[in-house]
Amino acid sequence: MHGLVAFCVTVATIAAGPGQKGEFQWFKGNLHTHTWWSDGDSPPETVIAWYKNNGYQFLALTDHNQINVGNKWVSPDKNKKSSAAAAGAEYAKQYGPRWVETKPESQEPGAATLWRAKPLSEVRALFEEAGKFLLIPGDEISIAHGTIPVHLNGFNLLEAVPNEQADTVTGTLQKAIDDVMTQSQSTGTKMLVQINHPNFKWALTAEDIFPTRGAALMEVANGHNGVNNAGDREHPSVEHIWDVVLTKRLGELNMPILYGTATDDAHFFGPGADATRAIAGRGWVMVRARYLTPEHVLRALEQGDFYASSGVTLDEVQFENNVLSLKIQPKPGVSYRTQFIGTLRGYDPKATPRTSDPEARLTMKYLSGL
Ligand SMILES: [Zn+2]
Ligand SMILES: [Zn+2]
Repeated sequence: MHGLVAFCVTVATIAAGPGQKGEFQWFKGNLHTHTWWSDGDSPPETVIAWYKNNGYQFLALTDHNQINVGNKWVSPDKNKKSSAAAAGAEYAKQYGPRWVETKPESQEPGAATLWRAKPLSEVRALFEEAGKFLLIPGDEISIAHGTIPVHLNGFNLLEAVPNEQADTVTGTLQKAIDDVMTQSQSTGTKMLVQINHPNFKWALTAEDIFPTRGAALMEVANGHNGVNNAGDREHPSVEHIWDVVLTKRLGELNMPILYGTATDDAHFFGPGADATRAIAGRGWVMVRARYLTPEHVLRALEQGDFYASSGVTLDEVQFENNVLSLKIQPKPGVSYRTQFIGTLRGYDPKATPRTSDPEARLTMKYLSGL
């Protein structure tokens, strides 16, 4: 299987140290996951427990167009995920009637059972531990730009932002980014935006993404089945789109880097969820930060003080005196090949359309091979 490690780094050496004494430490996290609050098959507790029990130190729950605040009752029997009822039964077994809250949907005999999806504030109190496990509020801002799904994750939001389309796809991306940045400034709270799965339904081209201002991250590997990370015969891969975005921004536009992330976008945690579903553990970030707080983690992400992986763990990664070096943590029986990919100075910036169809959502073809 292809294991991606994506980094445009400003990282220094790994330094192990105690969690909350201000020494740099590596924290493993996932920036994209769904629960009963939107279209995930499981309650937040099941989702969070998976990450906490599988070596992660932070997690952003990123349900569609909300930040999991308020009162929410769901019907797993009617959830469009077929495994949701089994996930509810497992939840009831594990957490018991003192924690799990249910009620009948109506007074009619045989009425469906509703289950309370607990808000972030309540599940936080159950799982968070200083220096060991952190939940970062998230919102997958999910906008239908006509038939084009434009999705971005906002992190550490205090309230969900509107999901409104603008005249162009770039404009729609920009509006969502601006809404998050406006909230960040008006509340004095550190927030960040990630542009999600560009190749999901072939939604975003490099030309849609590179002019946007204010997002810090874009997903280069998204674990959801069917997001077309690798592209197809007609469409370039997301890695290729990322290369074009970085080349345009750094080589021509004097704009900041969009750092590449790997995420799960997991929707299935219930019994029977197998690799044909969007399950957890497929993509993550390793963030180097001094403290396990939303501010420190988001600042490190914004500064590129992290690497993204869909399989490989690094023992060391260093960028010193203009030299990037790394050491892969070996696994028995696995061989590794490391490639450094970049656009060289003096490249030809000319681009031509890949097709004469003006409606096609296709990144342009760059003569330099990009
Ligand atoms: Zn999405
Ligand atoms: Zn998602």
